[in-house]
Amino acid sequence: MDSAEYERKTAARFASFDQDGNGYIDREDFSAAAAAILAEFNTTARCDKGQALYSGAEAFWQGMAGIADVDGDQRVSRDEFVTGAVKRLRDNPKRFAEIARPFMHSAIEIAAGSDGDGPGVTLAAATRLLRVLGADPEVAEQVAAALDVDGDGIITEDETMTAFATYYTVDGPDAR
Ligand code: CA
Ligand code: CA
Repeated sequence: MDSAEYERKTAARFASFDQDGNGYIDREDFSAAAAAILAEFNTTARCDKGQALYSGAEAFWQGMAGIADVDGDQRVSRDEFVTGAVKRLRDNPKRFAEIARPFMHSAIEIAAGSDGDGPGVTLAAATRLLRVLGADPEVAEQVAAALDVDGDGIITEDETMTAFATYYTVDGPDAR
């Protein structure tokens, strides 16, 4: 990946996290992401899954702040995101999985519940989840489809986690 492409993808990922578009990633963006997921899958914030999603969002934010909020002002600027989050998550994708897992686990449960209690998430639900988290629709489809190796339209929770980690660590496909 050349540096222009890297820069462009990083900007797109920053925009995905910065849900309200104010130029910083902060706690409100993570609550907004949780709210967007609940709305997309018609789930109330008051149920157990809704509560778990909000706790997961808080933990995700704390983890992100721990990695990237270098000046400690409780918000992650674009510079902090590029120099802190992206580089460190690329060096250590497992760390990303750790900080994102509670949030993603709840999000995946909510998405899976929206179309039955199968062993995984349908390709369609995983795509919707990526899209509501700010991925370009075409990218969301590519990232999810790449994981459905046997083509049965179902991906497991682990595979869905991998899709998100790939997307957020900037190695995933990008349509633009
Ligand atoms: Ca923001
Ligand atoms: Ca900061």
